[in-house]
Amino acid sequence: MQCPKCKTGFLKARKGKTKFWGCSNYPDCTATFPNKAGKPDLKAKPAKNLETSSEHKCPDCGKGLIRRPAKRKGLFWWGCSGFPDCKFRCFDEKGKPKLES
Ligand SMILES: [Zn+2]
Ligand SMILES: [Zn+2]
Repeated sequence: MQCPKCKTGFLKARKGKTKFWGCSNYPDCTATFPNKAGKPDLKAKPAKNLETSSEHKCPDCGKGLIRRPAKRKGLFWWGCSGFPDCKFRCFDEKGKPKLES
């Protein structure tokens, strides 16, 4: 299935904590879609706030963190924009990454 965002990549199933679909051009293209009955749900609203934060940096590699919606509504988590090279992730606390000290 062609990626509707970059039009050059294709969507493939990825297995995270929840199954979702991501673009084969990742990380150049960060389009992701939720899984619906084994197919990418293209009608799902594009998730907001998936831009790399310039304010919050990954404590492991220094790249920007990305705030992502969690499966449970209203919850978010942060992942490193260096993924999959960097696997850093953490919980969200009031819109900010909850960094362990
Ligand atoms: Zn794409
Ligand atoms: Zn990182």
